[in-house]
Amino acid sequence: MADLGNYTNTSEILKKYQFRMQKKYGQNFLIDANILRKIVEAAQITGEDCVLEIGPGIGTMTQYLAEAAGQVIAVEIDRDLIPILEDTLSPYDNVTVMCEDILKVDLAALAQENGGRPIKVAANLPYYITTPIIMALFESHIPLASITVMVQSEVAERMQTGPGTKDYGALSLAVQYYAKPEIVARVPASCFLPRPNVDSAVVRLTRYGKPPVDAADEAFLFAVIRASFNQRRKTLVNGLTNAAGLGVTRGQVETALKKMGLSKTVRGETLTLKQFSELSNQLLDAGT
Ligand code: SAM
Repeated sequence: MADLGNYTNTSEILKKYQFRMQKKYGQNFLIDANILRKIVEAAQITGEDCVLEIGPGIGTMTQYLAEAAGQVIAVEIDRDLIPILEDTLSPYDNVTVMCEDILKVDLAALAQENGGRPIKVAANLPYYITTPIIMALFESHIPLASITVMVQSEVAERMQTGPGTKDYGALSLAVQYYAKPEIVARVPASCFLPRPNVDSAVVRLTRYGKPPVDAADEAFLFAVIRASFNQRRKTLVNGLTNAAGLGVTRGQVETALKKMGLSKTVRGETLTLKQFSELSNQLLDAGT
C-alpha cells in the first residue's frame, strides 16, 4: 500500500472513493511524511505498545502507527471512511477500526484490550473537540502512558503555560495535574489537506504516576478551578462565592486566602496548581 503521507497519494485515494471532506468532523488530513514520523517518534512507540488512535481519517497516521506498534485501535466517527480504511489498512493485521464517536466509547473496556497495561494515545485530533477528548481520557482514569496529539497551536500553548499569561486557564491546570506537557513540533497549515485556518503543534502529555499536588478531593479541586476562571475578571473571592454549586461562603474564601498568605483581591489567574490545591483543601476543611 502506498504511503499516504503526501499530497499525490492522498488525493488519489480521495478521488478513487469520491470522498467529500466533512468540515463538521474537523477533517484535515496530514500529507507530510516528516511530521508523521515525528509524531510516532515523539510518542515513543515500541512493538510492545497498544496505541489508541482517535480519528484515523483515511488511515495515513494509522499506517505509521501499525508499523511501529504491537497493536492499534483506531476510532473513527465518519462511516464513509470505513471502506477506505479497509482498503488502506489491508496490509496490517494489528489494526482494529471502530466506527464510533470517541466521546461515547467505553474507554475502560477499550483499555482492557491491553490487559491492564498502560496504552498510548496518538492522533491528529479533530480540533472542535480537543479539550473534551483530552479531559475524557484523563478523567476516565484508564491506564494511560502518554497522549501525543496534533492540536491547534494556541491550545498547545494553553496546555503548557503557567500563571501570569493570557493563555493560562482551566485547561492548563487540568492537563498539568495529570501529565507533563511538552510541545514537540510546530506544524504549518501546508502540511494538511485541506489547509486549516490555524497553525498547529504536536504536544506530548506524559501521564504522571501520581499527581504533583495532594488534593484531598480531585472533583472539588476542579470545581474550584473552573469557578475561578469562569469569571476571569473578578477577584477569586467574588468568583468562588458567586459560583453555583460550590457551596463556599465569602468568609471561608477570605480566611483560606489569608492562611495561604494571599491578598483578598487576588485573581485566580495568578495562582499555581499547588496553590489551587492548597486552597481547595482549606475550603474543604472549612466546610466540614
Ligand atoms: N488521522 C487523520 C490524518 O492525520 O490525516 C485524520 C485527522 S482529522 C484532523 C480528524 C479525524 O477525526 C477525522 O477523520 C474525523 O472524521 C475524525 N473525528 C471527528 N470527530 C470524531 C469523533 N467524535 N470520534 C471519532 N473520530 C472523530
